[in-house]
Amino acid sequence: MPKLPTVDEVTVPGRRAVPRSRRGWQQLVREIDSCRRCPLGYARQHVVVHRGSLRPRVVFVGEAPGEEEDRVGRPFVGRAGRRLDTAIESLGLRSREFAIINVFKCRPPENRFRSDAALACRPFLAQQLDFLRPRVVVPMGSHALEAFRPDALPILRSAGTRLQWRGRLLFPLVHPAAALHAPALARRWERDLRRLQRALSPTEVK
Ligand code: SF4
Repeated sequence: MPKLPTVDEVTVPGRRAVPRSRRGWQQLVREIDSCRRCPLGYARQHVVVHRGSLRPRVVFVGEAPGEEEDRVGRPFVGRAGRRLDTAIESLGLRSREFAIINVFKCRPPENRFRSDAALACRPFLAQQLDFLRPRVVVPMGSHALEAFRPDALPILRSAGTRLQWRGRLLFPLVHPAAALHAPALARRWERDLRRLQRALSPTEVK
């Protein structure tokens, strides 16, 4: 796979500062909505931009919308989403404290990762994070981690550990969909959530 720029390295045309107002966010959403920068834009039913707070303390970053997300236009609404929601509840995060986004805004056919789409979509991911400014970023799965700290791959080496990104806490997890299919990953998911809970305690992250 060719080396992709991280969200810090994105300088490709299309990245611009988004005014930090509801109107600025809505403008960004409209831009993503009409995007056809890569082939995924022609195959999608809906773009999938975000759910949750616009002033989150924690942002969970998944990889790409699946079939159900593409159908309804919201991230993490299928089985993996229910697992993530349960996890977020167990972490004690209130709705105003978290947001959920993806590396891709459109569904890749057969859920296959595509480097061309990741490259085309990076400016949007960077703009979302510039706008949301979370104190903690939780990339879920290897493609999400790669967008921030490719040096920390593979995901199983870094999941459940505290890393840094732009002076903030970066706390990778395995992808919740992976935890649905393999008992060993389900145990890892649970163990790492407990670690994340400790990392999020008010004495650790204000
Ligand atoms: S995946 Fe990203 S870059 Fe590709 S069409 Fe969708 S919004 Fe645009």
